Amino acid sequence: MITYRNTYISLPSHFFTQQFSDKFLNPTLIAFNHDLAKELFNDDLTSKSDQELARYFSGQERHSGLEPIAMAYSGHQFGHFNPTLGDGRALLLGEVVTSNNMRFDVQLKGSGQTPYSRSGDGRSALGPVIREYLVSEAMHALGVPTTRALCAVRSGEQVYRETPQPGGIFTRVASSHIRIGTFEFLASRGDYEGLKALADYTIKRHYPKARDQANPYLALIDCTAKAWASLIAKWLSLGFIHGVMNTDNMAVSGETIDYGPCAFMDNYSHARVYSFIDRHGRYAYGNQINIGKWNLGRFASALLPIVDTDSDQAIKQTQELLDSTYRYYDQAWLVEMSKKFGIENPVHTDQALIVEFLELLERHDLDFTDSFIKLTHSREKLEAYDGFPPFLKKWLGRSPNFEFMKISNPYLIPRNHQIERAIQASLNRDDSVFKLLNEVYKSPFSSTHQGKEYALAPKPEQRIKNTFCGT
Ligand code: AMP
Ligand code: MG
Repeated sequence: MITYRNTYISLPSHFFTQQFSDKFLNPTLIAFNHDLAKELFNDDLTSKSDQELARYFSGQERHSGLEPIAMAYSGHQFGHFNPTLGDGRALLLGEVVTSNNMRFDVQLKGSGQTPYSRSGDGRSALGPVIREYLVSEAMHALGVPTTRALCAVRSGEQVYRETPQPGGIFTRVASSHIRIGTFEFLASRGDYEGLKALADYTIKRHYPKARDQANPYLALIDCTAKAWASLIAKWLSLGFIHGVMNTDNMAVSGETIDYGPCAFMDNYSHARVYSFIDRHGRYAYGNQINIGKWNLGRFASALLPIVDTDSDQAIKQTQELLDSTYRYYDQAWLVEMSKKFGIENPVHTDQALIVEFLELLERHDLDFTDSFIKLTHSREKLEAYDGFPPFLKKWLGRSPNFEFMKISNPYLIPRNHQIERAIQASLNRDDSVFKLLNEVYKSPFSSTHQGKEYALAPKPEQRIKNTFCGT
């Protein structure tokens, strides 16, 4: 049984627009995440036919409590403020509450235009659906906070990008879709009542302990800073590059959201960029902590009017808080990266050791993921490279815990060339590659025979150099 229990619609009406999805005559199922469905609906929906599921998750069925909305938000895109964004291609079907009282949003992507679509068609091409399904579920298996993939559907219609392409509809599940940009939307309109309502709602939904603090809104900034610091540190520890860390793509829940031109790095480079639109490397691998701090600044400035009615006081208090929260990012990075080296209680000087290793990877054009597997299981393979022997000596002096390394370094990440292979096959109506990858990505830390082939780093000629958001 699917029953929606919505709370976001009790917020002021300009926060969203009520909207139904387009009609799709013949949506067909690509994949449905029964394990996730079991958690969400207290019912795995296994009795439903593929056709029924495809209809449900293309918005063709009026379930109990269904009151879909498109959410309004703004955002800083590549550093520039855009006041009018919002769900242009997404539709929040509603919220569901699990048996252990967790609340989740169930949202469609690609189900049709909304008032926020601007010149877009509100549709999604199949490629991005396949990519987001695979990568978000892989991220979950890797232990990274993320939105989840519930369903992928072929819409049965063509969408027009550079060329006509099959359309897709993706269902994602998030602990909410409140973004920095949602706060910026209200702050930029001078709607401080609304801002307060949203902040109170967010605190209740995500950070209830903040309510008991002397200043709940400062506490909200602090909680969010911690969540982002740990999130970005996890990304970096896996070689993940989000690709579009605009403030409209940063969820206040601290989950990874809006998988566009994201990619996992193969051969290491601090300045690695895959996204075709990121021409100046703003969202490069090694710049993600800086951007995390910058984004936190945007969040804090949006909240200023409710931190204190005296604006000088608000600025002073917020700035003091920010100065202290920035440290979370560096600390979280040190902790996450140290795990990969088997160092359980990192000290300040371990930073230099980590950087030395990364610089060696870059100098010798070595694969990020594989190099940590070698460090864990077969150090001798690294010894052959100039510069490694002195590094290894220093590192062994830190008495690494190899068991800790085994559970901290995955064999298997979603490699770009494999994702691309899955997309191409699905575009030719063959979903077998997608299904197989989706299965093997469930156990990233095991070196089973089945997964081995998909763990392999690409040969230089197989390396994907650019990714596209494909919206
Ligand atoms: P994104 O790059 O996915 O973060 O999207 C940025 C903005 O563009 C968001 O407001 C989206 O809702 C909107 N958008 C992206 N693709 C489409 C589309 N096909 N139709 C309408 N709006 C879109
Ligand atoms: Mg977005």
